[in-house]
Amino acid sequence: MAMTAVRAVAAGGPASLSRFRGALVSAVLGDCVGGEFEGAEDVPMENVLQHLNSLDDETKGTGILEYSDDTAMARCVVQSLLNHAGFDEQDMARRFAKEYSSSPGRGYGSGVIQVLKKLSSPQLSDVYQPARDQFNGRGSFGNGGAMRAAPFALAFPDLADVKRFARLGAMLTHSCSLGYNGAVLQALAVHLSLHGALDLPHQFINRLITEMEEVEGDEAALRDARILKEAEKPFCERLHRVRDLMDRSKVSIEEVISELGNGIAALHSVPTAIFCVLHCLQPRECLPESYSGVERTIAYSLALGGDTDTIACMAGAIAGAHYGIEAVRQSWINCCEGTKDADINAERLHMLYHQSSQGGGSGTGEQSCEDGSKNKSNSNGTEKKTGAE
Ligand SMILES: [Mg+2]
Repeated sequence: MAMTAVRAVAAGGPASLSRFRGALVSAVLGDCVGGEFEGAEDVPMENVLQHLNSLDDETKGTGILEYSDDTAMARCVVQSLLNHAGFDEQDMARRFAKEYSSSPGRGYGSGVIQVLKKLSSPQLSDVYQPARDQFNGRGSFGNGGAMRAAPFALAFPDLADVKRFARLGAMLTHSCSLGYNGAVLQALAVHLSLHGALDLPHQFINRLITEMEEVEGDEAALRDARILKEAEKPFCERLHRVRDLMDRSKVSIEEVISELGNGIAALHSVPTAIFCVLHCLQPRECLPESYSGVERTIAYSLALGGDTDTIACMAGAIAGAHYGIEAVRQSWINCCEGTKDADINAERLHMLYHQSSQGGGSGTGEQSCEDGSKNKSNSNGTEKKTGAE
């Protein structure tokens, strides 16, 4: 109980600056430290702790851990949202394409590379088309939309906006509902965490299930789930598994992997990241007592193996929004590329968020948000015709 009190003070009140900084910085940390184990099948916790302990050793001089595509694309999302004080699909698509061409060696998947190359074409009129053409018109259900979804929760105070724009932002590269709904779920989790919802973990997971019931109830999502032979509402079904696992006193890493997955599909990684956060709300035997909640969450995510950088990045964003920047070790920040920028951008997003939540904001900002809504109706119109068929 004492811990809860300390945590609440450390994170500040709902949507405090500390929570914004915690979310954005911890996402980058998860990506950077997670790169070490990406694709590994079996990751003993002692190897994770050894890796993380090495970040404290200033004499080692191993230099900086570089961020991957997760952070590279999230930075584009942040810059676009800030520059337009809202969502602009053309601008965001352009930034993704430019970022890829200037720094292609960040570990992008081969599928998304095709989309990013097409997005760089000046002749392209519909920025959603390249993603729709993927995989014979079925679209991607990978976690590339979800890995960069956290900034949407930090830019829009209104939950409906968070869902709408996280979905549209993901659809620039992932047109299958099992891809973009993973982004919606991730943004929802960050939004709720930012507002202190993780103080009551059961209410948190129940709220996510309720929200996703609605999100996955649309025609395109139901059709995609049928085609891919998944449960009727796949993310809801996985969130029920998360709730079952969090109610158990002991859960092995193997059980978590077999129940939730650790792969590159959004369905096999976003609920997993959410579980990592919930599981690490309490101190765990396998983790050092000195670790903060953010540190526990990231360490645990790495021990699952598989798509470690993305799972740790998503879990880091949710955990950071709960515990705040005070829960992040300075030595980790120093070792990871892009954390300083993330911290500065978190402050700018915090200002934008609170301007919007006061209903004021600049005329430009309101105009840009309206533009985003118009874009949304365009996109929805075209999306209905394609989906993942
Ligand atoms: Mg990556």
